[in-house]
Amino acid sequence: MRKHEAAKKPATKDFQFIAGNLALDFVNTVGDRLGISRDYFVSVGEFNRWARLRGLLRDGEFLPLSKQQFEEILGVREELYHLFRALSRGARPTQRLLQILNVRFRDVAKKRRLVIAESAVVWQWEAAKRDPDRVLGPILFSATELLVSGLWRKIRQCDDVYCGWLFVDRSRAGRRRWCSMADCGNRAKVRRFYRKATLGRSARRSNA
Ligand SMILES: [Zn+2]
Repeated sequence: MRKHEAAKKPATKDFQFIAGNLALDFVNTVGDRLGISRDYFVSVGEFNRWARLRGLLRDGEFLPLSKQQFEEILGVREELYHLFRALSRGARPTQRLLQILNVRFRDVAKKRRLVIAESAVVWQWEAAKRDPDRVLGPILFSATELLVSGLWRKIRQCDDVYCGWLFVDRSRAGRRRWCSMADCGNRAKVRRFYRKATLGRSARRSNA
């Protein structure tokens, strides 16, 4: 129950899952990338908490990571950010852009197999209990899906000057501007309101 609530109603300062794609939610664990960025993965513990909230690890499960493994995960996150940011700004996928993802995915692809779960066929990751690919595998797979499905054309970067979060714009009009209306969208609304109020005041003053 707690997990469900956390995913549905996250605190602004906590992890959010607004991207509509796992790989982009992973990329969005850095806040204010275009300003003074803030890494939400301040520790291996926080990375684990994110993975549990996102359903990649079971409740109470903990993936111990060496410093090197943790740094590699953060490295993959930056690679994915650069790839998808480029696409969000109108670049087309090129072999060069895909190269890093191809290398990363090749390493994890052999660790998955098809299984039956409640009469559906799903991918299961067959990584050893302490293998970071248990979490990285689904993330990288989700990144490949974003490309193969053609949804990469709908990747946008939040319009906020600092935020930098990426998301898949699934709105019918295709004009989603904000990572979240409750967050950056609301801040922009408040700014507009104050600008209008200030303009109104100065107009009244110059009329007087
Ligand atoms: Zn934003």
